[in-house]
Amino acid sequence: MPPAPAVTSVYFQTETPAATFTALPTTTLLPTETPAPTETPVPTITPTSTPSFASIERVLIVSFDGLRPDAISEAPMPNVLKLVEGGAYSFTSDRTIDYPATSPSHASMLSGLCMADHGVIYNKYFQYMGYSKGVDLFDLAHAAGMRTVMIVNKDKLRQLAEPETTDVFEVAYGEPAVGKAAVAQIEQGFGLMFVHFAGGDTRGHKFGWMSGEYMKVLRQGDDALGTMLTALKDNGLLETTLIMVTSDHGGHEKNHIGLVIEDYRIPWIVSGPGVVHVEITQAMYTMDTAVTAAYALGFPIQPEWAGIPIYEAFGFPQTVLHEEDPCHD
Ligand SMILES: [Zn+2]
Repeated sequence: MPPAPAVTSVYFQTETPAATFTALPTTTLLPTETPAPTETPVPTITPTSTPSFASIERVLIVSFDGLRPDAISEAPMPNVLKLVEGGAYSFTSDRTIDYPATSPSHASMLSGLCMADHGVIYNKYFQYMGYSKGVDLFDLAHAAGMRTVMIVNKDKLRQLAEPETTDVFEVAYGEPAVGKAAVAQIEQGFGLMFVHFAGGDTRGHKFGWMSGEYMKVLRQGDDALGTMLTALKDNGLLETTLIMVTSDHGGHEKNHIGLVIEDYRIPWIVSGPGVVHVEITQAMYTMDTAVTAAYALGFPIQPEWAGIPIYEAFGFPQTVLHEEDPCHD
C-alpha cells in the first residue's frame, strides 16, 4: 500500500491522516513548485481501487444551475431529497467562487481550481480564451480510459473541458431533453458524466428566485434526475456509481451577481458506495466537488488544486480543512 499523503499545503492541516487512509490511492501533494496552470501534462493514470471505494466505478455529477439549497425541500425535489436521505450533504456550508456565474463557477466545480488558475473568467465563451486550463476531472478520467460524457443546457459550457477529453459533448434544451440525453448515455455506460440542468437559472432571471415558476422547473429537473436514477438501476450501475448533486450559484430576486450570501451558497449532495449519511458543516467550496470525485475514483490529487476531498462524506475523519478562502492568498 502506498503511504498516506504528506499534507503540507497552507490550506491543509499537517497531522498524519488516520490509519483508515493508509489505503489511499497514489495521492501526492507536493510541497514545492506550483506548476503553471497552462499546458500541464496529464499524468498517466492507473486507477487503484481502495477497500473503501472498491465499488465506485464511475461518477455522475449533476448540476442544477442556480439551485438554492433552501429550494430543494420547498420545490420540492423528491429525488434529490432521497439522495440526501442516504447520503452526505451540505445545505449551509458550501459556496461557490467570488464570481458566482455559470461558466467560471462550473469550471471550478470540475477542475478543482480557482478562477485565476482555470482561466474561465467570463460568463460567456469567447473561443480565443481557450478551454479551462490546468488538470481537470475530465483530463484525469479520460487519461484513465474512462468514457467521459457532458450533457449541458448551455452551449457556452463547451469551454469547461477540451473536446479531446470529452468522448460525448451534447447540448440539450430543457429539463426533459437533458434527462433523456443523459439516460441514453447511461445505457451506453460511462466513467465520468456531467449533467447540467439550466431551468432554475433561466426561470430565476425571468420570474425571480424562489418564485413559483422557479420551483416548477426545479421539479421538472428533479423528475429528469429520477429517470436517470432509474436508468442507473435498470442497467445495473446504481450500486457502483457515486452520484453528486450540486449547483453553480444561488440567486435572489432576479439575479445572482454576488450581493448576498444567497447568491453564493450552493447545495452539495453525495450518494453512493461507501458514503455515509452526514451533514457536512465544515467550510466547503465548489472546487471540492472535483477533488472529492477524483479521490473516490482513485485519481492523484493535483498539487495545484484549491479544493479538498471531503473525507467526512465517506465516514473518515476530515484531516484536511479549508482554513481560509482558498482562492485568496
Ligand atoms: Zn444566471
